[in-house]
Amino acid sequence: MADGKMNFPGVRADVSNEFDEATNLIRGGQERSQFDETAEAIYATSGYVYRTAAEAEAAFAGEHDRYIYSRYGNPTVTTFEERLRLLEGAEACLATASGMAAVYASLACMVSAGEKVVGSRALFGSCHVILAEILPRMGVETVLVDGTSLDEWDAALAGGAKAVFLETPSNPGLEVIDLAAVAERAKAVGAMVIVDNVFASPVLQKPLELGADVVVYSATKHIDGQGRTMGGAILGPDEYINKTVMGFTRHTGPSLSPFNAWVLTKGLETIRLRVEAASRAAEELATRLVADPRVASVRYPTLACHPQHDLAMKQMSMGGTIFTVDVGSKERAFTFVDALRLMDISNNVGDSKSLVTHPATTTHRRLPEEARAAVGIGPGMVRVSVGLESVEDLYRDLDQALG
Ligand SMILES: *Cc1c(COP(=O)(O)O)cnc(C)c1O
Repeated sequence: MADGKMNFPGVRADVSNEFDEATNLIRGGQERSQFDETAEAIYATSGYVYRTAAEAEAAFAGEHDRYIYSRYGNPTVTTFEERLRLLEGAEACLATASGMAAVYASLACMVSAGEKVVGSRALFGSCHVILAEILPRMGVETVLVDGTSLDEWDAALAGGAKAVFLETPSNPGLEVIDLAAVAERAKAVGAMVIVDNVFASPVLQKPLELGADVVVYSATKHIDGQGRTMGGAILGPDEYINKTVMGFTRHTGPSLSPFNAWVLTKGLETIRLRVEAASRAAEELATRLVADPRVASVRYPTLACHPQHDLAMKQMSMGGTIFTVDVGSKERAFTFVDALRLMDISNNVGDSKSLVTHPATTTHRRLPEEARAAVGIGPGMVRVSVGLESVEDLYRDLDQALG
């Protein structure tokens, strides 16, 4: 049976081996139409036509590699998938309508009632709901551990598991998990390791090189990077993506729209430039604030005071675009956030505009208070997603708001 997702002709596959990352980010996955357009075309179509009834029959019988229906595959979406696949260094990629669609599909396509998933407990709010509420309702056993404790991973994996799901650095606590050590333990019991790599982005951390099997993204964040569209992606082994995941998504329908795929494709062209610039700014601001007596604490992976600093330095090429600052109480956090004049209050991250949020009352409000405390989300914590504005303007804004 055809998976309805056409593979590129040989010339595109060859590009990946021939050129460096910078070239692939600009040209990877592009397939020009008969009109020889410079930029990638948008194929805004839900369906595809057949010249004869026999051609349709052959397409559905899988005898013919072609597009059938955009829930299964679309040329603009394929361009995005191929460009991201080259950046990640994965065998295959499948794009989804949002990051949560990617997270859910990556797990739901493979776990059945009676099987076990082990996850780190410091998860994005909706990821926590999938592991702690939705999968258990379907008879899947889920165990959440302190991701920084290898002893807890050992204990949870002891009886075997189907999958491991983790996020590093975590949102918003910026907890860093030892990917190589967890992957080794998971491999020993035959569990597939799925890493939510949103905070590091595909440019600062390569989970597959550290032993993970699958990487998932909210492309809404750094991949778009300019706050325009929702999107997601699952990357991993060819068999898993094109059989297991595709066999689930083609019938359940979390497909990415061609227009959003096009926006995300253009986002990839500048992702390294944007993420590196924002990370330099985030490190600069975090470094200034950690020395500031008006704040109780600052968390950023490459700061010496971060609990997993050495691991972060080894596992990531830079600290990322996000830091958190604790100002002591909810009241002080609200006063600080409300006093910001440049940075916007918004629950998104990875935008070219700097954004702040108060996780305890927004993105993580669904977590019970003890669960929030366990992953370091106190009432005084503010998450700052650093954008591409002038670092000095951003510092002046933080400084006046703290005053
Ligand atoms: C935003 C986010 C998601 C969800 O992505 P959406 O595109 O909003 O569905 C998942 N994981 C992490 C770490 C995120 O930050």
